[in-house]
Amino acid sequence: MNKTVAIIGGGPAGLMAAEVLSQHGVGVDVYDSMPSLGRKFLMAGKSGLNLTHSEPFEKFVSRYGSRSEEVKSWLLDFTPDDLRQWASDLGIETFVGTSGRVFPKMMKASPLLRAWLKRLDEAGVKIHLRHRWVGWNEDGSLRFETPDGIRTVQAEATLLALGGGSWKKLGSDGAWIPWLEQAGAQVEALKPANCGFDVAWSPHFREKYDGHPIKSVVLSFDAFHQQGEFIITKEGVEGSLIYAASALMRDALERGGATLHLDLAPDKSEEQLVQQISKPRGSRSMASHLEKTVGIKGVKAGLLREFVPKDEFALAERLAFYIKNLPVPLVAPRPIDEAISSAGGVTFESMDENLMLKNRPGIFCAGEMLDWEAPTGGYLLTACFASGRRAAWGAIKWLESRQLV
Ligand SMILES: Cc1cc2nc3c(=O)[nH]c(=O)nc-3n(C[C@H](O)[C@H](O)[C@H](O)COP(=O)(O)OP(=O)(O)OC[C@H]3O[C@@H](n4cnc5c(N)ncnc54)[C@H](O)[C@@H]3O)c2cc1C
Repeated sequence: MNKTVAIIGGGPAGLMAAEVLSQHGVGVDVYDSMPSLGRKFLMAGKSGLNLTHSEPFEKFVSRYGSRSEEVKSWLLDFTPDDLRQWASDLGIETFVGTSGRVFPKMMKASPLLRAWLKRLDEAGVKIHLRHRWVGWNEDGSLRFETPDGIRTVQAEATLLALGGGSWKKLGSDGAWIPWLEQAGAQVEALKPANCGFDVAWSPHFREKYDGHPIKSVVLSFDAFHQQGEFIITKEGVEGSLIYAASALMRDALERGGATLHLDLAPDKSEEQLVQQISKPRGSRSMASHLEKTVGIKGVKAGLLREFVPKDEFALAERLAFYIKNLPVPLVAPRPIDEAISSAGGVTFESMDENLMLKNRPGIFCAGEMLDWEAPTGGYLLTACFASGRRAAWGAIKWLESRQLV
């Protein structure tokens, strides 16, 4: 081992690259600005660590939308099953949940990260914490801010795995964009992905229903129709069902506007609702009539009050229509810092198939900092791991081609 690759960013993508390179006899230095590695990975562990998904491979790769082909080529070398085997080799057994999502049996990330860092240490990977990369010096060396001042590093190859732009406090802040652009890479602006949205709630609704879950509704937006759950927040809406449609809704807002539609009673047809609401109300209030006849109460009834025009509320046919198609106008996506992940990043056109920058040979990129996005469901981590491996193999081939290994 006589040559060294500098990996900047010690999240899932960078650490996976470190593993491949060190296994191949290449010296590896991992630099990270934070006082410890894998902070976002550990945060993902707080919600159980959805590592990957068990659905058929072709369905799996379709989740990467317009970048399915590129991501597929990484995943063919490191499939979701390979990922489960890899975790098992680290002593972390996984299971398939009812939704097909794959989790570690322990439902957290810390045991996996601990075992992984130990194995990397045994393989000779050197970790440099509190090293914030701030671009290149004129001679092409890497420039880091450290507690001991500026440090300059020369490396035969560099692998950047700096993450996207969400949850800045965990380390990835997108500050790298101008440096990559100066290096001749094209970078799409980072945008929130798997994010919540602002809704202009009335003060009464906001006060009363902040934090309330909306269970088992169908959300429709363009061609998207899915049953699930979400949460009302002070600002708007959050949660798995919202995240699933968030890329479409975000893009529509960018084009001018977006209104999602809810079916608040997926088990009933509109006709059934008309029939049931039309029953004599007697002296009951409309709220208790709705609860008694069609079981709509609490936050769902509140949503109807928010968005059904007053003069239509007493008309059974119109109310039934709105229960099946309630329009909820969205104002804006929540800020990127709150999003689960980010879209945008280094474009595929800027890199070759080994994820090396075309305008800067010897510089490789991996993980969420690349211009792809995917819904939640384990797709994010799987692609981060797989891209780390692809970039590491790219670096090995590049060093070999220059007879540096
Ligand atoms: C709350 C939450 C829950 C999530 N849950 C899941 C889940 O269950 N399943 C799933 O698939 N995905 C999940 N994700 C997404 C997943 O964690 C990320 O997609 C993944 O961590 C990205 O990996 P990465 O290696 O590309 O970047 P990161 O994990 O962001 O790592 C990048 C690293 O680079 C370092 N860095 C950045 N800039 C610099 C610099 N200038 N100098 C030095 N170091 C730098 C950072 O400190 C960081 O350690 C979740 C995300 C969040 C926020």
